[in-house]
Parts: sequence; C-alpha cells; structure tokens
Amino acid sequence: VPYLKNCSVVYTCESSGAQDAVHPVANGTVVWSGSTIDWVGPFNKLPAQFSADQAIDCRGGMAIPGLIDCHTHLAFGGWRENECTARIKGQSYADIANAGGGILSTVRDTRSQSQEQLVTRCFQHLNQISKLGVTTIEVKSGYGLDRATELRLLETYRDLAKTSPLTIVPTFLGAHVVPTEFTDKRSDYISLLCEELIPEIAERKLANFCDVFVEQGAFTVAEARQILITAQRYGLAPKLHIDQFHDLGAAFLAAELGAISADHLECSSDSGLKALAEAGVVAVILPFASMYTRQPFAQAQKMLSSGLQVAVATDFNPGSAPSYHLPFAMALACQMNGLTPAEALKGATINAAKAIGLTATHGSLEVGKCADIAIMNSSGIDMWLYHLEANSCFCTIKNGKELETK
Ligand SMILES: [Zn+2]
Repeated sequence: VPYLKNCSVVYTCESSGAQDAVHPVANGTVVWSGSTIDWVGPFNKLPAQFSADQAIDCRGGMAIPGLIDCHTHLAFGGWRENECTARIKGQSYADIANAGGGILSTVRDTRSQSQEQLVTRCFQHLNQISKLGVTTIEVKSGYGLDRATELRLLETYRDLAKTSPLTIVPTFLGAHVVPTEFTDKRSDYISLLCEELIPEIAERKLANFCDVFVEQGAFTVAEARQILITAQRYGLAPKLHIDQFHDLGAAFLAAELGAISADHLECSSDSGLKALAEAGVVAVILPFASMYTRQPFAQAQKMLSSGLQVAVATDFNPGSAPSYHLPFAMALACQMNGLTPAEALKGATINAAKAIGLTATHGSLEVGKCADIAIMNSSGIDMWLYHLEANSCFCTIKNGKELETK
C-alpha cells in the first residue's frame, strides 16, 4: 500500500469552511490502495491496519490535491504571438479582431489540422501540464465553428481521454464567435448549433457541458439563452464566458439557468455577482486573460464577500492566455485578483472540481476519493506561491500511480 512520508504538511482542501480553509495537516500522510484514498491524517496517528509499505518521499515538501485546470481551450492550430506583441505596442483586442486576427485566425489554423495532428500537439501539452501537478483538465472546443471541425475537436478530446493519464472533461463551445461564413445570417449559425450539433454531441456523449461567449462581437444574452436552454434539454449543463470586456447582464442569465460556472467576470456588477452567488454558480477567474489583454483583473475579494465560491484557471488559448502554467495563474490570482495563497489553492482544487461537476471524486484529499496528489518542493502554501520556482512539483500522482515528471 503506497503512502507519503517526510511530508511537512498535507492540505486536504475539503470543501467545508471559507475559501481560505484548506485544512492543513502538519506532518501529514495520505495512504491509498489502487486508485482510491484510504486514510489521511498525521503520520504519527496512522492506524496499524494500514500496512503502508511503499513510501513516496516528500523530502520535507508539501502535498496538495492534484491541481484542476477547470477552463482551457486546449486544442487549436497555430499560435498568435504577433498579436501579443501588437497589443504590447498598443493595439486593442477589438482592433486585432477587426483586422482579421483574433479567434477567427485561430479558426482558420484549426480547420486545417487533422485529428492526428491535434491529438499529437495536445498530448505534448498535457505531458507538460501534468508535470506542474495538474491531474484534471477541462477542455473546450470552439476553434472549429463548423460541424466537421467542432466534432473533430471533441473527438480529439475523446481520444486524449483514452491515451492520457489525466482526467479530461470536454465542453462544447460552438458558440465562441459567429464564423465568417455566417456573418450576415447569425440565426442560421444558431440553428446549426441548436438543431444539429448539440443533439449530435449529446447523443454521442462527446461533451459534458455547453459554453457560450457572451460579449460584444460574440453572442448576445438572448442568443446565449436560446443555445443553453437547448443544451440543457439535451443534458449538457451550461457554462458561460461573461463580463470579460463589457457587462451585458449575462450574470443574471447564468443565475437564471443555474449554470455550473460563470467564467471571466472582470467587469461584473455588484448585483450580477450577488445573483451568481444566490444561484450557487461557481465564479471562475482567469488572471492570464487580464494580463495578456492588459485589462483590469476580476475582483476576487468582492466575489468572496458576495458569497461566491471562486475557482482559478488558466484559460489556456492562443490569443488571450497562451500559457498553461496553472501555478503561475494562481500566483497572479494572489497578486492581481487579491486572493490569498490559501484561497487560490482552494480555487484550483475543490472549487475547480465544483466548476466541472467532479466534487464527488476529485479536488480534495479525502477517504474514498481518487488518489490524485501533487507534491511540491515547498514548506507551505504561502511560500510556494510567493517564491514560485520554475516548477515546484517533483511528483504527480494520478489515480494512485506516480507519473513520469522528469
Ligand atoms: Zn475561455
């Protein structure tokens, strides 16, 4: 039976308590058999019946639940580094999109990729991501925007779920933007989503969630309502990208629909945040998107005082968040969104699990849950997100098995 030894502290991150209640166990250990946790507690209280015999040496470091990146756009073709440099020189996200850049340029690059090419590239990313201590990842489609490519992206995720050790949770984001060929007939594109793609994706079980980007230049609140109500009818739970650049009132839609999460929230109103809190919608903050688009950061303390549970994710995508480094996003969430390191830790573990419907099995170190554990070369959470080594994680354990992290 494997167990952790020489661990300075285990943060169990069970959901009870406030956002900063990460439930540290000093000199703790975790014991598991197969893929399931059997016991968590102080090392010197380990009951005799656990004949723990395969030690994983934490070398005085800390153990946390495997990190969960609950918002990424993992599969896409190409990159957009030139746009990033143009933004540094003063162009806005909207200027770039109007000049033919932005999401639509990635759509062109993605449509030209075969499934094999997409799988190969994603697999390489996932390999690096797992080395950071991430064991579960949500992945969105949305760079195809036609039937064939949206299905190809979701089939890519289905293939990765079989070949990658990580837990992969797919989301259909056909409503990312309206593709160029439908510019003058938006309602036809929405019909394609509602009458063809959503039913087919639900029937083939290619996605757990349906997401809509509500923003000027993307979709309106009324369009999002139509798409997400259809998705709910087919068993796909709603998620939304809202209030990133403009507050269009979409927080009230997320609350009305009982969305599992509302993501971005940089420009949310106080009343919008309150509505989300009352409806139990998880607030997902995406600090990389603010950093790379040079926009204000979401106000995480205001969310917490409104009664929201906050998750932190990378938003990994080639435009507004080209890094998949979740610990760096957590450090930004501390310095720029105002979370404490403990609050950020809960945001990338149990609250992230909540944002993708996995709390029963993932996101905390509790008896009966999956043995997904990251061991960090750091004495504690405050030290980890302050010093932020290139990669503090020296051991990622997924479903009870140590992954190759070198
Ligand atoms: Zn996103």
